Amino acid sequence: MNTLSPQRIGHYINGSTVASASGRCQDVFNPATGAVSAQVALADAAQVDQAVAAASAAAPAWGETAPLKRARILSRFKELIEKNHAELAAAITREHGKVFSDAKGEVTRGLEIVEFACGIPHLLKTEFTDNIGGGIDNWQLRQPLGVTAGITPFNFPVMVPLWMAPMAIATGNTFILKPSERDPSPSLMIAELLQQAGLPAGVFNVVQGDKVAVDALLHHPDVKAVSFVGSTPIAEYIYTEGARRKGPYPLRVQALGGAKNHLVVMPDANLEQAVDALIGAAYGSAGERCMAISVAVAVGSVADELVEALVPRVRALKIGNGMQDDSEMGPLVTAAHKAKVESYIEDGARAGARLLVDGRGLRVAGHEGGFYLGGTLFDHVTPDMKIYQEEIFGPVLCIVRVPDVAAAIKLINAHEFGNGVSLFTSDGNTAREFSRHIEVGMVGVNVPIPVPMAWHSFGGWKRSLFGDTHIYGAEGIRFYTRYKSIMQRWPETIVKGAEFTMPVAK
Ligand code: NAD
Repeated sequence: MNTLSPQRIGHYINGSTVASASGRCQDVFNPATGAVSAQVALADAAQVDQAVAAASAAAPAWGETAPLKRARILSRFKELIEKNHAELAAAITREHGKVFSDAKGEVTRGLEIVEFACGIPHLLKTEFTDNIGGGIDNWQLRQPLGVTAGITPFNFPVMVPLWMAPMAIATGNTFILKPSERDPSPSLMIAELLQQAGLPAGVFNVVQGDKVAVDALLHHPDVKAVSFVGSTPIAEYIYTEGARRKGPYPLRVQALGGAKNHLVVMPDANLEQAVDALIGAAYGSAGERCMAISVAVAVGSVADELVEALVPRVRALKIGNGMQDDSEMGPLVTAAHKAKVESYIEDGARAGARLLVDGRGLRVAGHEGGFYLGGTLFDHVTPDMKIYQEEIFGPVLCIVRVPDVAAAIKLINAHEFGNGVSLFTSDGNTAREFSRHIEVGMVGVNVPIPVPMAWHSFGGWKRSLFGDTHIYGAEGIRFYTRYKSIMQRWPETIVKGAEFTMPVAK
């Protein structure tokens, strides 16, 4: 693979890499060192038009390609990802900063969607009713939409594009990926592997860029669906703009937004397991996961014990980028993002939360320019505080103390986000009642990060998801296809004359 570390990261349109035409570009950093590693091109509307034209030209033939043939290409793609697993993970670590072992896990979770999409001949099977009456049969089709697009966040530069592209392609659509401008290289590696797998030119394209490219995709009349994953303000913007688009085909949008995920620790929980879960889920990937746990809800008497167990573990986190060592947590993605997370820590301390471990000022030997921030822990956080209300997206865990499980449920249900939640308990009834009454899209019981498997679907509730369908799994098939019902009769002769009453089964 030779697209790995280009000085200038361009687009991928119609089967070829394309340099920037607009001349606009942005620095890409290595977060572990703070050095600029490359520059990424930022597309203008004309370049987006070029990608849409390529995807439109490829759409009819790809849509007519038998699902089994599409599946065979995806199957080769799966093998190529497996072969290039370490290279993909290294590219993630270089531009995102997450530790190498975590980056490998990201590739695996993306790969699972490709595996699922390989079953597309079966997944596209629909229902058929023989003889609804009068010799008429009724069945349905799920047809591709045409040109579709995906806009993805920085925190999973391989996994999130793979939540979308395999589903779109398997269902017979062409696809344009607009990856995050902060870690753009993996998108070109995905393009190269798809090409090697035998995907025809124009079926998968990459347009690098920022808001200019996103707006051009949203308003292009030939783009039929946009899948978005990112922060809530942008998700809401994408959803609202999409709904405003006029024309015979309104833009279909699914927009997954931000999160504030709680982990509830009951007094009867296995404390050791709960602490392990909190440490991994709050500080893994430096908290830059939409399913990261950022609030520990300590119920009743468990609070002091929990704090006592957490503090030394947060202080002992091994921090580095994990390429040469066994680090557990890497740097944040950019200096600007690090400054933003630090400002939340400042705000929390000022608001009266008890700062038990302060990660600011951390220096990692040999990586003094890196965007590192140590693990941070707050106790006595209350719902009126900004550090409780807003998504911090960094290695900061807030402990909120509540008297009982009812108060925990009330607290979580009142939050504007509803992506993921977790409960640690040894009581089956508490777990069952919690799961049924919590207003959150993905629930874990004694599981810290309940990311659904490829054949289930992923998505939150409330302001964590705009649109009706969750992403990948069966909902992904629905999102990327249009439903059509067909009723057919082949009588010996149709000479009964016109019928003017509402047709009913006879
Ligand atoms: P972001 O919203 O800043 O960017 C996401 C995408 O939108 C990028 O491709 C970016 O180029 C584009 N974008 C940015 N500003 C834009 C604008 N003004 N107009 C149009 N497009 C714009 O998100 P991020 O910082 O890259 O990623 C982190 C966020 O993503 C967090 O909020 C996290 O919770 C969320 N996220 C959610 C999920 C989920 O499944 N719900 C998964 C991963 C990340």
